[in-house]
This record gives sequence, C-alpha cells and structure tokens, in this order.
Amino acid sequence: MATVSERYGTLVFSEDSMKERLPSATHKLLEKTIKEGKPLDPEVANAVAHAMKEWAIGLGATHYTHWFQPLSGMTSEKHDSFLNPLGDGRALMTFTGKELIQGEPDASSFPSGGLRATFEARGYTAWDPTSYAFIKDEVLCIPTAFCSYTGEALDKKTPLLRSMGALEEQVKRVLRLFGEPERHVSATVGSEQEYFLISEKSYERRQDLVLTGRTLFGAPPCKGQELEEHYFGAIRPTVNEFMKELDDELWALGIAAKTKHNEVAPAQHELAPIFTNANRAIDENLITMEKMRLLASHHGLVCLQHEKPFEGINGSGKHNNWSIAAGTTNLFDPGDTPMDNLRFLVFLTGVIKAVDDYQDLLRMSIASAGNDHRLGADEAPPAIVSIFLGDELGAIVDALVTGHDYENADKVAMDLGVTVLPNFLKDSTDRNRTSPFAFTGNKFEFRMPGSGGNLSDANMIINTAMAKSLKEFADELDGKKGEKFGKAAIAYVKRTLSDHRRIIFDGNGYSSEWEEEARRRGLSNYRTAAEAFRCFIEQKSLDLFGEFGVLNEPEVYSRYEVKLEKYNKLLNIECRVMKRMARRVFLPAINEYACRVAQEVNAVREAMPHADLVQQTTLLDKLLTGVRDADEALQALDALHREVASIESQQEKADRYACEVLPAMGALRAAIDGLEIITDRAHWPVPTYNDLLFYS
Ligand code: ADP
Ligand code: MG
Repeated sequence: MATVSERYGTLVFSEDSMKERLPSATHKLLEKTIKEGKPLDPEVANAVAHAMKEWAIGLGATHYTHWFQPLSGMTSEKHDSFLNPLGDGRALMTFTGKELIQGEPDASSFPSGGLRATFEARGYTAWDPTSYAFIKDEVLCIPTAFCSYTGEALDKKTPLLRSMGALEEQVKRVLRLFGEPERHVSATVGSEQEYFLISEKSYERRQDLVLTGRTLFGAPPCKGQELEEHYFGAIRPTVNEFMKELDDELWALGIAAKTKHNEVAPAQHELAPIFTNANRAIDENLITMEKMRLLASHHGLVCLQHEKPFEGINGSGKHNNWSIAAGTTNLFDPGDTPMDNLRFLVFLTGVIKAVDDYQDLLRMSIASAGNDHRLGADEAPPAIVSIFLGDELGAIVDALVTGHDYENADKVAMDLGVTVLPNFLKDSTDRNRTSPFAFTGNKFEFRMPGSGGNLSDANMIINTAMAKSLKEFADELDGKKGEKFGKAAIAYVKRTLSDHRRIIFDGNGYSSEWEEEARRRGLSNYRTAAEAFRCFIEQKSLDLFGEFGVLNEPEVYSRYEVKLEKYNKLLNIECRVMKRMARRVFLPAINEYACRVAQEVNAVREAMPHADLVQQTTLLDKLLTGVRDADEALQALDALHREVASIESQQEKADRYACEVLPAMGALRAAIDGLEIITDRAHWPVPTYNDLLFYS
C-alpha cells in the first residue's frame, strides 16, 4: 500500500503536476497568469487543458466539471464527459482550452438576487487557475468563478479574489515604503471546522434533522457536556474509522488535514488543516465539508454541519485564522529587528482600524439563521465584534497611546521610538476563547463564523477593510524616507490606535457586563442576522466595496437580497416542519399515551374502586393540560407564520421572523419538550437527545 506521502496530493493537479506535464515555456506563461493575473493565451490554455485531461484520465476520470460557488455559498457542479464520438462508432476523449477556461451552466436556477434579470439572463463560469483542479469520483473538478455576461459576480469566489487583489496592491505599497523587496502577497487562511456525528438510524427518524439540519424539538439530555469529558477525549472506534478515511481522502486531494479531536459537546468533533492562501483554503474547506457528509455514511453516521443542531449543547463554529504572507514572511510575525517590529505595528494598527471601522460588515458577513442560535449563547462570541490582543501586546498598545514607557515582563523599560521594540511576542501564549477576533501570536483568529457557512464573505470583508487601512497609511506616508518615514509611521500608529482603542477588549466576552460596556463604547450589537444584513447596503459599505472594485452597487444589493431570502426561506421551512411534527408526530403520540393512562385509571378503578390513583390522575391531568398548551402554542405559531410568510418586503419579513416567529417557535418547542419528559419512552415517537448524543 502506498504511504501517506506517496498518496498525498495525487488527486490534485498541483504546481508540481503542472511543471511535470507542461513544456517549460507553457508552464512559465501559466505561472505568469497565476502569479500576476495576466490573461491566458489560448494556445497555453489548450496545452494546459490537454495536460490536465491526460492526467485526469490516467487517474480514471471520465468527466469534467466547472466547480463553483453560487450565492447559496455551497458548491455546484454539472458533469460533462470528455467523450467525443468520431461518427464511425469510435470515440475520443477530448478537452479543449476553451472548455477549460469557460463553461456555461444553465444558470437560471441559482440565486442571483435579481442580478441576472438586471443584466443578462445567462451566466458563465471562468477557470480560476489560482486554485488547483482536482479529481472527485471520476470527475475532474475545475475551480471556477461564476459571472454574468456583463461581468457581474454571481458567486462567492469572484469578490474574494478581487479583495485579495486589492489587499495585495496596498500591502505592496506599504512594503515598498519600508524599503522591502517586491514579493507575492496573499491573505492566508486556516479554518477549524467543527461538526457533529450522530447515528444514521436515529437521524433518519427525525424529520427536523433531515429537513432543517437541527432539532426543532427535544428535551435536554440527562447528561450534557458538564463533565467536560468529551473535549480532547479518546475518540470512539467508529468515529476514528471515519476520521481515518476522511484524512486519507483529503490528503490525496492535497488538503493538509492536520489536527482532529473531540470537541466540547458530546458527539462533536473538529478538523483543522494547515493554512494556505485564502482562495485555496476556502475551496479546501468546502471540499472537506462535502467529504465529511459523504464519508460519514460509510460508517453508519451522519455529519451535522448546522451551527446549532442541539439546544442547550454547544453549537459548531468555523474559526477563521487569518494573516498576510509576503513571500515567505508572515506580516503578523513581530520579527527580529526594530524595523520588522515597526512594520508589525503598522499592520497590527491596520487590522485594529479595519475591524473597528467595519465591525458591522464583519458581523454581517457571518450572519445566518443558524449562527444566530450560537452567537452570544455562552459558547461562542457575542454578536459584538471586538479584538483581543493579550496582556503583552495590549500593554504595548496602551503605552503607545498614552505615551508612557512600556515595561515588559522582565521590567526592561523601553523607548517607544522606532529603534527599540524588542522581540516581544514570540512566546505569547495567552488565549481568550471568548473573543470574536483574537490575536494568537502571529495571526488573527476570527471566531464568529458558523460551521455551515462559506468563509468567502468574511475574508472578502477582512481583506477589503484591511486594504482600506493600508491605503490610508500609504497615502499619508507616500514619499517619506528614512528617519522621516519612521517618525511618521510611529505617529500614524499612535494616532490610529488611540482613535480605535474602543474595539480592543481582553475581558470575558460572554459576560453581560461586556454588553453594557460595549454599548458605552459605541460598538454595535446586532442580535439577529435579520438586523445585521442591513449593514451590507449602507452607504459606508457601498463606498468601501466600490473604492476597491470588490463589489459594485448591484452586486451588493443582489447579495443582500439573496441573504435575506435564504434566511426567510429557512425559517419558513423550520416553521412548516415544526407545525407538521407537532400535529402529526407529537400530539397524536401524547394523546395515545394519555388514552392509555386513562384506560389504566378506569381499569384499576373497576378492579379496586377505592384504589389510590393520585399518581395516575395527576399524570393524566398534566398530559391533558400540556396537550392543551401545546395546541395553543401551535395555533399561535400557525397564525403568526401565515401572516409573516405573506409579507412582501424581504427585510420586514426577516425582522418579524427574528423577533416574533422565533419566540413563537420556542413556545411550541417548550410545550412539547415539557411533555417529552413525562411521556412513556416507548410512546415517544422520535429518538431523544439521550439517544442522539450518546450512541455507541
Ligand atoms: P490554535 O489551535 O491554538 O488556534 P493552531 O496552530 O492549531 O492554533 O492553528 C489553528 C489554525 O490556524 C490552523 O489551521 C493553522 O494552519 C492556522 N494558521 C497558523 N498560522 C497561520 C497563518 N499565518 N495564517 C493563517 N492561518 C494560520
Ligand atoms: Mg484555534
């Protein structure tokens, strides 16, 4: 059997495979396209297509697909075979440069938020040579962007790539001011993916899980996560088998799955790959999610990627570790020399300003119906965006702002001029798990994204907001050199830090005091996704995206519409499933049980007229009152749902789902859950939380 290193990357048409299979002149031209974004020559495209096809066929591929990310955030593919009949009964396997570069899916069924209607009915997919093609189930998958014929982005990838370009341009300007050599610059991302695994048998018996990905009903299990025994605990054999197969498949696809462990909640796990450039990292994350869902079934399991499958039990997030690499240098590495330190401070200041100025957009970027259940639930950051720097860096920022000397742990007083910012953070280990945006030594960890989402929006916003900060710095310092530059840079750092200090918070982000304090500081707190979506279309946001060519106005509006619609559709589905389950699954079962109790009461009374039937009659009474309450909650939800579902305006509809329908859903759930714990287990029609979370 091949070793892991032999199998690693065999199913991906990587840098290496390209080099090996392309004539060196062609390879050089392709590299120019990849690294510098130069348009691809048709001749080169043909050569690349041929090499790719030969490689793929050699590995058993029969089809190819343009693999893209429509605005739903998930991935889409339509398979075309390489087959080309010759008309004499024979057929060749062909694949042209044109087919590689451009595809034309029937785009009419993808969400476009009205964009296609405004512009051009058709959309096309365009090869993204910066993310490697790969083979999945006999299909050569070619990562592509998806656009309208007039060039509007209809997908998640295009604006991400534009934001990476904008960031690269501004980073290069700043590095030039520092006198550094020209290097390729890229945002880097490492995503930690959390997920649940439950047994397929239990899953199939719960319509709520099957149709919405989360349990809409369910009393708390007898045991939750309070013993803290699951986190990093021994991995049970079935799950281990699943993880092994997953690692194997990911490694073959060149995805560097690195860390796997049990998470805090029972049946919850995590996988983290080694980071790479943001574009590829997001493609990899989407492939990983798909593989997880698919491979779970090989082990009789189902992988839940919803942000909050179980009430009262931790939900799943997807930490977005973000940094910027210039060549092999990580720009958030404090560095060894004073000049490196100054550069670090400039970039750090840029992030602090970016996150403060665009906190609303960041919150918006991760807003979804599912993530609303997670944020602020004492398991994930609150809906308030803030930055954690840690003691040491925090003290340095304080010192810079106040003009006092900084004393590090060794009590070495430092002059905060350009010359002496020593190597202060190398071993910085402090962690704050409650912070939404935490500096973790040489990168930032954005902890708000939910497990089910696509990280493109969040990174598009971080990159663009950062480009804006850096642009202001570069504009201000343009032309300054030597000591003058150093002085001006420090002045910029001090001024900007003091302007944006309010966003820095090192305390407990889960506490109610922080909500109070954040309000005093003027930080935003959008409790629901419905509220947060609005930030997308504010003038400030349109200006930012416009300035850097990341999204034009119609593109922003279309995305806003798609997000709202998705939110409303999901809540509509949840309401329907809830009502149907209450009516057709739970109430009949509870009534049946009540009937049995009533029959018992009668039977005993007949046999023994003076028997003490307090327990039985109290239970019967509780069941009947409970059924009445549940039915009232059901009627209330039904009326409200009908009313809200008929609202025309998507924003108003979303607001009312969030503020009125969700609480009504909660009331129905509470009524049914209350009955679950007094109903005979044998009569309960679906697997309970105990069954779902503690399987063997
Ligand atoms: P922790 O678990 O303490 O948060 P890890 O070292 O396990 O830290 O990193 C978590 C994730 O961050 C991994 O996916 C890792 O590859 C990624 N990461 C590390 N360095 C960077 C970087 N410079 N840019 C982006 N992601 C990074
Ligand atoms: Mg982490």
